[in-house]
Formats: sequence, structure tokens, C-alpha cells
Amino acid sequence: MNSAENPPAQVDVIVIGAGPAGTTAAAKLAQSGRSVLVLERRSLPRFHIGESLLPPITAILEELGAYDRVLEQGYVLKHGAEFSGGRKGRFGRIPFAGQGPGRHHVTFQVERAHFDKTMADVAQESGATVLQEATVHELLRDGDRVVGVRYEHGGRTHTAHASYVIDAGGRASKVAHTFGLRRSIDSLRMVAAYQHFKGLDEKYNPGVEGDLQIGGHAEGWVWAIPIWPDTVSVGAVMPRELLHGVADREAVFRDHVSRISRITERLTGTEPVGELKVETDYCYYSDTITGDGWFMAGDSACFFDPIFSGGVFLAMATGLRAAQSVDTILGEPERTANVQLAYSDFYKTGYDVYGRLIHAYYEAGYSLRGFLQSAGLDISGDQLGTNKWVARLVSGDFWNPRNILLRHLRGQPRWNTFAPFEPHWGCPFYEDLNVAEDEAEQAATEPGARSVTVA
Ligand SMILES: Cc1cc2nc3c(=O)[nH]c(=O)nc-3n(C[C@H](O)[C@H](O)[C@H](O)COP(=O)(O)OP(=O)(O)OC[C@H]3O[C@@H](n4cnc5c(N)ncnc54)[C@H](O)[C@@H]3O)c2cc1C
Repeated sequence: MNSAENPPAQVDVIVIGAGPAGTTAAAKLAQSGRSVLVLERRSLPRFHIGESLLPPITAILEELGAYDRVLEQGYVLKHGAEFSGGRKGRFGRIPFAGQGPGRHHVTFQVERAHFDKTMADVAQESGATVLQEATVHELLRDGDRVVGVRYEHGGRTHTAHASYVIDAGGRASKVAHTFGLRRSIDSLRMVAAYQHFKGLDEKYNPGVEGDLQIGGHAEGWVWAIPIWPDTVSVGAVMPRELLHGVADREAVFRDHVSRISRITERLTGTEPVGELKVETDYCYYSDTITGDGWFMAGDSACFFDPIFSGGVFLAMATGLRAAQSVDTILGEPERTANVQLAYSDFYKTGYDVYGRLIHAYYEAGYSLRGFLQSAGLDISGDQLGTNKWVARLVSGDFWNPRNILLRHLRGQPRWNTFAPFEPHWGCPFYEDLNVAEDEAEQAATEPGARSVTVA
């Protein structure tokens, strides 16, 4: 029997990395009856940044039969996001309920070490073999095709062969580095400094309990994410020059946080725990997402910026889609080329729209309202959540061209990242609802008219 002591040498699929992309892909494939080996170089639980989630993750967890399992962990419930603008304390809130009925209106704020371990358990219980402290050093090739990996585990070198390798290794992606696929996004050279604070008491939160807070100021933006009822994660994101060569990074961090009055108010009575951490130059992409014998999912092929909390969502959405694609190919190999192209277009569409939203926020001077004004939506802060397109976009509506804001974003060539590709439209979570809504709107305005889908 396969186990950590006796890992399999031949499986259907090897997954590199047990982050959200890898565990989602592994769980789905194992549930589809495929043999799966997950190789994770760290010992779980392990620290990771990326703590605020988006609502459609609920649909992914339901697809994996893992929603109740995650719910019972007691993570903080997130019903919306607050955007404020510096010392004057002006703010606007976007409740997820603003998306309209039939969509998920709540999600989680998580300590990633805990969440990722929970998801690794889900993958394992679904039938995948999850090996910790197993570092992939090399991709095995037969001609141009990737046929497996060489990895180190328990002080020994092992090889494992598979029909497909899904690289969900995040920033350290073996595929991206082996094939030289990664490109940096020079217009987004940001750095993030962050720390956890204990002693959180939400009675000091001037907004809504559990919400993500984002505060924009002249030199960047600040986040506050309650990851447990008594613990809040705080981060300051800024152009990298501002921290370059600075000896006292904590002073810069404290200065930036102090600029956002609604966040400092929420931090009343809290104390920092652990060291200030710094992450730099994290924005990159790849134009090639799949190849002979391999797929990349999640951060391995692209990462923009954390401002709209899309990283884990996109990692899980592409992890799920990669698993479905590999499962289809294993059953019907003659469809390989089409399925890989469709996956690549799906991946790029999601990340492209998310990236444009970030460019728009940055170009408007770290201001959501500024972006909305430039898109023709002049709505004051307290009206933010009443616009369904705004609420949907910040909730992960990245594959739906009916969204007027998405169309605006797609219409700005200066925010192109990937080489030209065919967008893959069709929301993976709410497409039936979107089509029904379209039809109802058309019936209301032009009785008898047929629905038209925007290309
Ligand atoms: C400053 C900052 C703040 C962020 N905030 C948010 C947020 O609030 N919300 C959000 O959704 N996202 C956020 N993100 C993004 C989020 O962290 C990532 O998008 C997300 O973790 C991607 O998941 P993944 O599974 O693709 O990769 P990862 O979570 O990075 O997982 C990759 C795994 O692969 C393993 N691995 C790597 N190489 C190997 C190897 N050779 N062999 C074996 N294992 C390997 C790693 O140890 C790791 O466990 C933030 C990112 C940054 C930089």
C-alpha cells in the first residue's frame, strides 16, 4: 500500500506543492479515481501569506465535498470588504450580498498554515498520497515530454513517473524555472511588509466585524485581515524603492499603517507577534501555461498583487480546472491539444482580468473610487456596495463579459500582460444564473427578444 513510508513510483498524476492549487487539484483527481502523488517540500502546517479569501471558494469547496469540513474549523467569516482613504477616515464598504441573489455572500479569513493543512488532509482523505518534506529537484523527461520527477524525501533521492505533472509549486515553480518561462511585470514592482497582531477586539472595529479592510494612501496601501477572532494580519504594500536599503523597516511599516485611521482604530490594544516579514518582486507571469505532460496551476504561472484578495481563489479555481482537464485527457487522449488550449485560455482570462483590476487601482492612485470614476461609475463611498457589477468584480467575477467593469478593464490595451490569447468566457460558478439574468432582463425590456451574449 502507498504511504509516506512507501511512496508510489508510478501514478496517474504527480502534483508539486500542497498549497491551495495543489491540494484542490489532488483532491479532485483522487475523487475522480486517479492515482495521485502530492510532493510538498515543507512540513505542514507551515506559514504562508494570503489570508483573505473570495466567496466563490465556497463553490469549489462544495465541489470537493469539503465545505462543512472547512466551516467547522472556526475561521473568521468575511461578509465584505472596506476600502478607506487615509487619515480623513472616508470609506466605502462592499458587502458580498451586493452581488445579488443566488451567489455566495460569505467566505473565510484564514491562517494559511491551518487552512493549507486542512486542505492537505482533504486531499489525503480523498485518496491522494501527500508526502511532506519531499522536495522536487528535477523534472524527468522522455524527449520533450515530462514523464515524472526526481525528489528528495527522508534523506534519499526518489523518482516517480506519471502520465501528467501538475506544477502547483507557487513562486518556486519547477516547470517555470526549468523551461525559463517566467517574466516579471515591471509596472508592478511592489514590496509588502506584514505582521500578525494578537489581542484583537472587534469592538474597536469602526466597520463590520470580520471584514477585510484596505486603506489607500499617497505611497501605497495597507491591509487588515482578522485571521482568528483574536488575531489580525496587517500588511503595508508600497513601491519597492521605498523599502530599498532602509535599515529600520519596522519604522516604515508603522508609519504606513498609522496613515489609515480606520485600521489603527481597529488595532487598539493589539500587540505584534513574531517578526515583520517582507516579500518583494512578487509580480510575474508566463505565456505558456501547459506543455507536453504538464500543467501549471495557481501562482506557479502568474501572480499579480494581493490588493483584491484573488490569489487563493485563482489558485483553487485553476487547480480545479487543471484536475478536470487532466482527467478528461487521461480518458480521451485524442482531445489533449484542445483541452490544454482551453485550460490555458481559462487560466489567462482569470488572471488577466484580476491583473487589470490591480492596474486600474494603482493607476487611480491606490483608489477604488478613482478607478470606478475612470470607468464611468461615479458613486460615492457609501453607495459602493449597491452596484452589483462592483460587488461581483471584487468577489471574483473574472470570466463574465456581461460585467460592465470587466468590459472596461478589457478595453485598456495598456494593461495587457499575456501575449494575445482567446478569452475563455463563461463563469465557472454562476453561468446558469448569469444567462437566466440576461434572459430576464431582455424579456423585461424587449418582450420576445432573444438573449445576446457579449463576445
Ligand atoms: C504579500 C502577499 C499578500 C497576499 N495576500 C493574499 C490574500 O489576502 N488573499 C489571497 O487570496 N491571496 C493573497 N496572496 C496570494 C497568495 O499567497 C497566493 O496566490 C496563493 O498562496 C497561491 O497558492 P498556490 O497553491 O498557487 O501556491 P502556494 O500557496 O505558494 O503553494 C505552493 C507550495 O508548493 C511547495 N513547493 C514549491 N516548490 C516545491 C518543490 N520543488 N517541491 C515540493 N514542493 C514545493 C511550497 O512549499 C508551497 O507549499 C498574497 C500574496 C502576497 C505576496
